[in-house]
Amino acid sequence: MAALTDLTLAAARDGLKKKSFSAKEIAEAHIKAVEGARALNAFITETPDKALAMAAQSDARIAKGEARPLDGIPLAIKDLFCTEGVLTTAASHILDGYKPQYESTVTSNLWRDGAVMVGKTNLDEFAMGSSNMTSYYGPVESPWRRQGDNRPLVPGGSSGGSAAAIAARLALGATGTDTGGSIRQPASFCGIVGLKPTYGRCSRWGIVAFASSLDQAGPFARDVRDTAILMRAMAGHDPKDSTSVDMEVPDFEATLDKGVKGLKIGIPKEYRVDGMPAEIEKLWNQGIEWLRAEGAEIREISLPHTKYALATYYIVAPAEASSNLARYDGVRFGLRVNGDSLDDMYERTRAAGFGAEVRRRVMIGAYVLSAGYYDAYYLKAQKVRALIARDFEQAFGQVDAILTPTAPSAAFAIGDKMDDPIAMYLNDVFTVPASLAGLPALSLPAGLSGDGLPLGLHLIGRAFDEATVLRAARTIEKAANFTARPGAAS
Ligand code: GLN
Repeated sequence: MAALTDLTLAAARDGLKKKSFSAKEIAEAHIKAVEGARALNAFITETPDKALAMAAQSDARIAKGEARPLDGIPLAIKDLFCTEGVLTTAASHILDGYKPQYESTVTSNLWRDGAVMVGKTNLDEFAMGSSNMTSYYGPVESPWRRQGDNRPLVPGGSSGGSAAAIAARLALGATGTDTGGSIRQPASFCGIVGLKPTYGRCSRWGIVAFASSLDQAGPFARDVRDTAILMRAMAGHDPKDSTSVDMEVPDFEATLDKGVKGLKIGIPKEYRVDGMPAEIEKLWNQGIEWLRAEGAEIREISLPHTKYALATYYIVAPAEASSNLARYDGVRFGLRVNGDSLDDMYERTRAAGFGAEVRRRVMIGAYVLSAGYYDAYYLKAQKVRALIARDFEQAFGQVDAILTPTAPSAAFAIGDKMDDPIAMYLNDVFTVPASLAGLPALSLPAGLSGDGLPLGLHLIGRAFDEATVLRAARTIEKAANFTARPGAAS
């Protein structure tokens, strides 16, 4: 039998129910894997005792014939989700020692279904970044290496720890959050699947806020089926989040294999950006051919405001971040650096507690919201955002899903692009538009770069139509047959 850490989530679920192995065994295998891969720095906090206690409860339920949908499944949780009694840092110094008294709704849903927590994963500080290099706890290393080049690579960001953990087989699934691409870009860099659901599909309650009108939680897994299974468990209406939508959560797994015959797939011409590497373009064309061969109708579409998406995002997201992060004042959470007066204490705490990227965002955000610039920047960005959403609305009058590359490159080396924020922000050029429009979007591994690194394809769907996105992804997955595995998993 394959190692327990090599199973898919679906195979583990089925094996647990048949008692081929126990939740305890599968938890132990993953705890050992996590310990053996500490060089990756994928976890900020390991929770082996909690994992074993949760696994024991799963085994007891399975023995009684009362197995829940995710009983015994080891998961890694991005350290942006509040977990009751377990250190929650957002990878920021300012949340030093913070142990929430409550559990986020998304993680509660997963535990309700029987899943087991192996630990809290590393991320860019407050989820701001595309490389996991802005974490106070140090960068995460991708388990992948370029052929013939042993330099450590980034796993992508901001959910880099979760993505690296899944690629390195340290958990069977993970949670991430995506504000402008933080699930999809690391999924692409790490050769796994990541889904950002429709805004409102998952509750944001108990997730440390970055940019509230964009933030969404979503799953990572090694294949599309496992992603569908996790998506169903995480989603659902939550009265504690006023933007959570009261809609039925479909059984995404049940419709996975319906294929794409008759589906119309849009190819947005504006995504053929200047300077796109030939291998990315080639993979995109390959994806188009795979879908066409399975009976999809391919249509060129236009999303005319695409070129403004990145600039719009980098006004809206910092504006909301500067407001959300005002709560870290040294009084209520985590770090406090004492000063001569209350104001001095605030200033010292925030200066010591926030890293450079977070400070940059707070300053940009405060600037675009300030009295003299609000109309010129923030209000304008809101209007352009509405136009971007309208582009998609019009496109979805003609097509059922949209196919693009996930990112303009494969993973880069740790340390690269850190002195050039604009180059770093360009990572999000293909993922940000769907975030601004609140639409579901998924990345799946579809091929390798010339130097042997994973490249992702990106599918965008209609609001609340994750089911079609997953179906189309499953079709590409079968055609791509991506079997490459990272070399430096431990
Ligand atoms: N890379 C983007 C940023 O830095 C997106 C981050 C995210 O989705 N959390 O803001």
